[in-house]
Amino acid sequence: MPLSATLEAIKAYQQQLEKNKIKPDNLPPCPRCLVESAFFKEHAYRDRKFLVIIDMLVKTVLSALLRFKCPGCGKTFTYYPNFALPHKHYTRQTLTHFSRAYVQNPEATYQKATMVDGSLPGYPDDQQTLAPSSIHRFISSLSRLTTSSQKAIDLVLQENPASAICRNIANQRVPRQKFKSKARENILVQCLRFFEIETLFQHTFKTSIFTKLAIRWEFS
Ligand SMILES: [Zn+2]
Repeated sequence: MPLSATLEAIKAYQQQLEKNKIKPDNLPPCPRCLVESAFFKEHAYRDRKFLVIIDMLVKTVLSALLRFKCPGCGKTFTYYPNFALPHKHYTRQTLTHFSRAYVQNPEATYQKATMVDGSLPGYPDDQQTLAPSSIHRFISSLSRLTTSSQKAIDLVLQENPASAICRNIANQRVPRQKFKSKARENILVQCLRFFEIETLFQHTFKTSIFTKLAIRWEFS
């Protein structure tokens, strides 16, 4: 699993953006006036700083996010490329890599899950490193993608009614030492389930829940 989006992927997206090749089709219809997203107009660019991890160093890459506007009512929608998540500077690949390292390993602690081959991804300018508390937050964010998860389950079952997806997610358990409250246990279980669903969704549709569903159901 990659530690972050690549510089090349962000550059390729930036080029598409500059050539006006980003289309609003994956966005949801306007919830206010039901205009289909294909009719949305480009509205504004917002500069965005992304953090990528290259050779164990956390580096800043500047890019932009595009907002579209509904011609019916003026509501605006942000288009998230497949490495970007709302309110996060780290890329989607970083969130999923480190969250998986914690939730999918029963022995993991947040400290251990932050390590890659025995060292911590750090910032070049100072002594700071990726913090274990960041991983705690990444997991909370991913656990909230419940609408996309449910849509993904529905689509997988439509495609393959015999899929074991429901049995697999019902079997996800988190070791007792990883939580002190019921609320945190639920978050960890949701995150584990999300990864299980994402794996089966990728296997079935050769694409990610993030690009196919989250942009439509959770992000804008
Ligand atoms: Zn509208």
